Amino acid sequence: MKNEKKVYSVSGNEVFGSLPLMSQEEVGDKIHQASAAQGSWGSTEVYKRAEILHEWAEQLVKKQDQIGEVISKEVGKNLASAVKEVVRTADLIRYTAEEGCRIHGELLKGDSSKGGSSNKMAMVEQEPLGVVLAISPFNYPVNLAASKIAPALISGNAVVFKPASQGALSGKLMIEALLETDLPSDTIQFVSGKGSEIGDFLVTHPNIDMITFTGSTETGQAISQKAKMIPVVLELGGKDPAIVLEDADLDLAAEHIVSGAYSYSGQRCTAIKRVLASDTIAHDLSEKIKQKVENLSVGTPEDNATVTPLINNEAADFVQDLIDDALSKGAELVTGNRREDHLVYPTLLDHVNSDMKVAWEEPFGPVLPIIRINETEDFVSLSNQSQYGLQASIFTKDVQKARDIATKLDVGSVQMNAKTERGPDHFPFIGAKNSGLGSQGIRRSIESMTRDKLFILNL
Ligand code: NAP
Repeated sequence: MKNEKKVYSVSGNEVFGSLPLMSQEEVGDKIHQASAAQGSWGSTEVYKRAEILHEWAEQLVKKQDQIGEVISKEVGKNLASAVKEVVRTADLIRYTAEEGCRIHGELLKGDSSKGGSSNKMAMVEQEPLGVVLAISPFNYPVNLAASKIAPALISGNAVVFKPASQGALSGKLMIEALLETDLPSDTIQFVSGKGSEIGDFLVTHPNIDMITFTGSTETGQAISQKAKMIPVVLELGGKDPAIVLEDADLDLAAEHIVSGAYSYSGQRCTAIKRVLASDTIAHDLSEKIKQKVENLSVGTPEDNATVTPLINNEAADFVQDLIDDALSKGAELVTGNRREDHLVYPTLLDHVNSDMKVAWEEPFGPVLPIIRINETEDFVSLSNQSQYGLQASIFTKDVQKARDIATKLDVGSVQMNAKTERGPDHFPFIGAKNSGLGSQGIRRSIESMTRDKLFILNL
């Protein structure tokens, strides 16, 4: 391989690996190999495909410490969470294998619509699409890759997998574990290189039949504009609100808000990224959140700290700019606003208003704005003014009120009395507006990677 990129650990800044920067020609060869392998994989019995996925899950469990350590170094996630990500991924793969075995198609009788005939009968089967391009982000480099690769494989597709450049070493280890199973090796192709250099080539390649992408809204939108006549499923950014009504259990709300906003330093698509609080309880809520934030562990991934250095210095600069902008426009600093290189201390801002960037932008870092509100309608309209629509949380004891607000929110999922989060993995996972396109979650992902094929019996 001509070009290689050194991979540095997020917290220690030491080189601990390297990654091939593939040329377009090399990437093209990989796509062709996947394409050539797909036919025989697509006609392999589903139970055999499922057995291979089960073997993969076993391999990941065996290698959980090794892969977890690489995730931790590569993306700066604490070690315990990194290992947990690998184990959760094994569970997801097992469930996907089982779910794939339950896709049976259907039989339609022809006489149900006017003009039809009882002499017609359609067998509807699900066919693989061909070669699925899976592009994953840095923050869950194993889980968000396997949640694309496993459904693609169980439904008979071949896969070209392009991980985030920072996150690719753990992605590679995960693929090596897959290649230790009986999977025909050309069925999965690992490609690496900068998205800005090989991305367009990948997404516009004529042998790519479907794209499943998780990452920023900006990249996702660019991909959806370039992909032609193929299905595209996108999981993008978010600005999930925690809506706290005046009858809420404030201790419960504070606990969920802190864990939702600051785990893995806020680098989660479903992190709580703003609090919309009834102004009658906002002061008490702010105090309770503050106490918990000040007890968060801040440090290195090796120390299992909750708040660890952000993925890079630019990410920390971006967060700092949001904090500075809010403070310059009159927000109150409740706690935080301290920084050491790209370690940003957990920061809580109160009295944030709509003129401040932090009210609207996705920080992908440990800063949380509180916006005080006094009318129910304002909760809805402020929530819906965001370009994003991933999830929302509502904290209240009144189920009817929560349901009324939930029906008006332009988001994929609404959580009552709990933080926003992905999963359980078999639940559908949807981003409305600029947060996504299509639906994920194990069953929905499998469905998105197949198409109906009819065999019509004319008796
Ligand atoms: P990103 O910068 O958009 O990168 C995501 C992936 O796209 C990487 O593999 C990247 O490769 C690749 N890429 C970059 N430019 C490309 C191009 N022109 N064509 C094709 N691929 C290209 O996102 P990120 O910083 O890794 O992840 C953070 C974002 O992901 C946040 O906005 C977060 O909310 C979102 N996210 C959403 C979900 C969800 O489920 N909704 C889950 C997790 C994260 P390189 O690394 O080589 O540039």
